[in-house]
Amino acid sequence: MEIFNTETMTLQEFVPITPGEVKMYVCGPTVYNLIHIGNARPMIVFDTVRRYFEYKGYKVNYVSNFTDVDDKIIKAANEEGVTASEISERYIRECKKDMADLNIEPATHNPQATQEIDGMIEMIQTLIDKGFAYVAKDGTVYFSVAKDRQYGKLSHKNLEDLQFNMRGIQVSGQDQKRDPLDFVLWKPKKEGEPYWESPWCEGRPGWHIECSVMSRKYLGETIDIHAGGEDLIFPHHENEIAQSECANGKPFVHYWMHNAFLNIDNHKMSKSLGNFKTVREVDAQYDPMVLRFLMLSAHYRSPLNFSADLMTSAKASLDRMKSCLQNLDYNIGHAAKEDMQDGEDALRAQAEEYRTQFEKAMDDDFNTADGISAVFDLVRFINTKLTSENSKALLQAVRDEFTTLTESVLGLKLEDAGEVDEAEDARINALVEERQAARKARDFAKADAIRDELKAQGIVVEDTKEGVKWHRA
Ligand code: AMP
Ligand code: ZN
Repeated sequence: MEIFNTETMTLQEFVPITPGEVKMYVCGPTVYNLIHIGNARPMIVFDTVRRYFEYKGYKVNYVSNFTDVDDKIIKAANEEGVTASEISERYIRECKKDMADLNIEPATHNPQATQEIDGMIEMIQTLIDKGFAYVAKDGTVYFSVAKDRQYGKLSHKNLEDLQFNMRGIQVSGQDQKRDPLDFVLWKPKKEGEPYWESPWCEGRPGWHIECSVMSRKYLGETIDIHAGGEDLIFPHHENEIAQSECANGKPFVHYWMHNAFLNIDNHKMSKSLGNFKTVREVDAQYDPMVLRFLMLSAHYRSPLNFSADLMTSAKASLDRMKSCLQNLDYNIGHAAKEDMQDGEDALRAQAEEYRTQFEKAMDDDFNTADGISAVFDLVRFINTKLTSENSKALLQAVRDEFTTLTESVLGLKLEDAGEVDEAEDARINALVEERQAARKARDFAKADAIRDELKAQGIVVEDTKEGVKWHRA
């Protein structure tokens, strides 16, 4: 399996620290609002990465945090006249609801910043003791970037250029920083803000320290994979490396993975630009699996431009998968024989080829776009080569393969037809009944016309001993 590592900018063979295990950390959202579909991209992408590792037999320890103390949370709390924790608890709950709708497996751990303050104070103290951090007059603790010889290795920036770029830029606390590049580990409280006791002042942690601390606590000093959107490469992940490696004296992460942006009109979707759509809004309009399909239809390192047209085509593709499964189930229910028959081995082997094709795509840096193409080759095979004349054993084996790739790995729920399909089924049932009525009235021309109309829509109507039945072709 090869993974593109942002740090080395190359594809690298995946070698786990502990055989058979993956230790993986994904930076989660700041919870002051409903998540938008841009936030959902890393969630869906890295959930699929996790599922593929699990499919390959790895035990995955998956940690994703909630940032529940932050300026934006405090601002939202003040605007509503409630506490910051009321805001963050509410939006953690809502976020988990959206994630469940998107069929994202619950993380092994979902730590929250406010519950890990002791660990943060301890790591900050270590950094001060080792000379990598210093305390300013007002009690702010800064990380001293110049002390870290490796700073910039993830984002491929060098210190001189960074320092040059910072010239003349006024940032808060600049007067007490030794170097404009230094970043905050701990800051003093302001009026009306949540705060904690610390050796330096009553205050709260900077943003970056939480991930270094939670990653170490739940996964260990060195982990396999650390992931997030590409906007986190600098400064967030660069600063995490500085903190963790200087505090622990060990490498922090083996593989850095970053997803490209979900755009809208070719601009990054973001809360601050106001050009966002919440997952809640989109899910009200479409089966949430359509959004999940859309996210997986592109490689995670390619930008994806959200549009209604793209959702329509994602829905059509997902419907093809759903009707393929319905077809298979119909054939399994009507299978002529139980056990594998002579000559069916070849069909079984052909189906396995598509699984191999799928794995090849996923082994190549989780290329879900090519993986989905392999699944559609399998769909075509099922629709054209398999019928109820085949044995139940063969049909069931192919069904297991199909649902393993689509439902278990890609996380696309196909059986839960959802409202949209119920409406579609009701429409078809109405046409079938109309045809029955026409036949009763001996209006065979009309009955045939309805049958042809349905056939053109991919619906096969059959007159059986038990009455009229229909299924998707
Ligand atoms: P935030 O709440 O802004 O810290 O974002 C949480 C996660 O969503 C981070 O991994 C971000 O990189 C990611 N993210 C935010 N906006 C987008 C976007 N438009 N496209 C892809 N990922 C995004
Ligand atoms: Zn983080």
